[in-house]
Amino acid sequence: MRKCPKCGNENHDNDKFCGNCGFKLPEAKICPECGFTSFKDKFCVFCGEQLLPKYLCKKIKCMMQEANDLGFEQDAIKLYDDVLDTVPYYSHALANKSRLLLFLKKYDDALKCIDKALDINPYNTSFIDNKTTIFLVMEKYDDAMEYIDICLDSNPLDDSLLKIKGDILSSMEKYGEAIKFYDKSLDINSNSCTIRAKMNALIDFKQYDEALECCEYLKNDDSFSSGYYSQKLKIYKIMKEYEKALDLCTEWYESNPNCYFILLYKGDIYFEMEKYPSALRCYDKVLNHSPNDETALKRKANVLIKMGNVDAIKDILSKIDPNDIRIGNL
Ligand SMILES: [Zn+2]
Ligand SMILES: [Zn+2]
Repeated sequence: MRKCPKCGNENHDNDKFCGNCGFKLPEAKICPECGFTSFKDKFCVFCGEQLLPKYLCKKIKCMMQEANDLGFEQDAIKLYDDVLDTVPYYSHALANKSRLLLFLKKYDDALKCIDKALDINPYNTSFIDNKTTIFLVMEKYDDAMEYIDICLDSNPLDDSLLKIKGDILSSMEKYGEAIKFYDKSLDINSNSCTIRAKMNALIDFKQYDEALECCEYLKNDDSFSSGYYSQKLKIYKIMKEYEKALDLCTEWYESNPNCYFILLYKGDIYFEMEKYPSALRCYDKVLNHSPNDETALKRKANVLIKMGNVDAIKDILSKIDPNDIRIGNL
């Protein structure tokens, strides 16, 4: 219900004019970031952005989309500046511009830009994450640490901030401490992104059994289901548990029989085990289905080199760039 500012009559949300006195009712304002709509609020209750009239919101969203489509091209900066000329306090435009400046290695400008976004929206944890990322890229670890500690002082139980601290410690190769902060974060909110970060820290810390445990948690996460298998394989390969890795590939392929790329993983494991004929069979199966699969061709060429089958390689070389022949990770 919407109250008429002139006579106080209660009108329906979709009414344009007051049913009692005919006063033109104010239009709803919209958050350009998340679409939150309100007749009374000035700022979005979810993202903290300034709410805009419908026409302006539409225009801004188009400009943001256009900038986004340009990806990391220099031209996108001009578009973000246009957005900011129209809505100077649009913090997400500032944050996007900052990410772009970081990519373009303009670190000081990137910092200035994210600081402006944080002035407007100081509790946005993704902006805080952006700022610490800039420090880490600049290898200013102490600055990153000092900043995240200030943020944590005012919000010691914010799971996102605790994860960011874990990320900073990980990049400083202080894996043991990093894992403690990931655990604190996970106690508050069991977020799969944090579990992945913890798993990677555990791998770097050579705690493979614990890393495998993290992997098992992620198995139930639909958005990670193929990541589960590839991560687990990666850990098994580091541990040189090849038999387990092969079994896992079989399980993975049986549950996704149309995903031939799984056979590439399997071939790579046989290759590392120096079981070249078995590796060859895997790559050939992939090539039966897609004869020009470049990855499979390159892998096959590698196996043939190991097997000393020069004639067979010549055939493949005509299809791929010879410089690409070397085994790599998928
Ligand atoms: Zn009225
Ligand atoms: Zn919003």
